[in-house]
Amino acid sequence: EDLDAPFSTQCQDPRVAAAQPRENAVLVMLARNSEKDEARDTIANIEAQFNQWFHYPVLFLNNEPWDPEFVRALNRTVSGPAMFEVIPQEDWSYPSWIDPEAAQQSMARQQQSGVWNGGKESYHHMCRFYSGTFYTLPALQPYKYYWRLEPGVRYTCAITYDPFTAMAAHNKTYGFTTALWEEPLTCPSLFRAVDAFRRAHHLPTTPSWNALLTTPSHSPIPSPWHWYPLRRLRAALHTPHHGASGDRWNLCHYWSNFEIADLDFFRGGAYQALFRHLDAHGGFYHERWGDAPVHSLAVHLLLPAARRHHFADFGYHHEPFFQCPGNAAGGQLRGAGVFDDDGNGNGEGWSEERAGAIGCRCRCLDRRKRNN
Ligand code: GDP
Ligand code: MN
Repeated sequence: EDLDAPFSTQCQDPRVAAAQPRENAVLVMLARNSEKDEARDTIANIEAQFNQWFHYPVLFLNNEPWDPEFVRALNRTVSGPAMFEVIPQEDWSYPSWIDPEAAQQSMARQQQSGVWNGGKESYHHMCRFYSGTFYTLPALQPYKYYWRLEPGVRYTCAITYDPFTAMAAHNKTYGFTTALWEEPLTCPSLFRAVDAFRRAHHLPTTPSWNALLTTPSHSPIPSPWHWYPLRRLRAALHTPHHGASGDRWNLCHYWSNFEIADLDFFRGGAYQALFRHLDAHGGFYHERWGDAPVHSLAVHLLLPAARRHHFADFGYHHEPFFQCPGNAAGGQLRGAGVFDDDGNGNGEGWSEERAGAIGCRCRCLDRRKRNN
């Protein structure tokens, strides 16, 4: 019996699940005013595939005042309540102990050495925000679960059950679709810092933690390792990510542009203490630590494996990678990958037709079309 089987292998009428009580949950999208069209496309997509039946609220977050045009367009697209919040300045800026000038020099160096988004100050603020201060927003206090969306992402299959109530029923804390290797140059000292926290707090090495130390081919993480570009794999394997104990992180992390997770874990004492420890280190600016590896390392350090859930039944696409579910009973992952027509690593060329051609089928797609 699979420890982490899909929550639903039924192609049920979504109205059956929608007739049940909701969880205390919210869809969240951080966006810039300039991303209005991509945001609207993604919200229209999640409405068509899921929220037209469930009407969960959507919380839009911005570090700048909202453009009334954005608010108007998205208000028209959401079927549940829509909220538009501006992130408090102190949650989207340097902490007091970081000297902005020194940080900017670090970022210029990161830019020069080819660290992905390393030269972009706003990207560093974004990663720090999603790593920690996000969870303390007053706008999230009323909720227990969040589902993270990003402008431009696409759900390629109907979701005909309520993933929030399923998370609660199965006692799950963190749900993901895609696991990848982190770009090694973004976070040379992240693992060492997390490992130092582990030892300072006398946290045991559990099977969940040890899973991040195994070689990829032995990783229990249901991850499509084989489609990672070979040259980057070599770079990853040759960059040391050792803790002081000599342990070495395999760079695996969940791609946080999709997350369905329990806010109580992330706003709780253990996670927030880890975030403060990492924030004090300065790696959100002097390196370019992403929120994805921070979340992943924390989840593996602080939670047993059974608290994670792989949404293998969700069809998901965020440039340049996608996950495509199988059509078989049991919902085994059929494939995941990247279309990269010109080999430049940017992953252009995804289409529903091409996904279909490699056998990416949705269990519920035909049924849904009949129902609507
Ligand atoms: P990538 O997926 O790592 O390439 O990064 P994205 O550019 O997609 O950024 C991740 C998320 O943060 C998306 O939801 C963006 O809309 C959002 N984001 C990134 N930078 C900013 C910013 O400066 N302001 C705002 N409001 N949102 C941002
Ligand atoms: Mn993105």
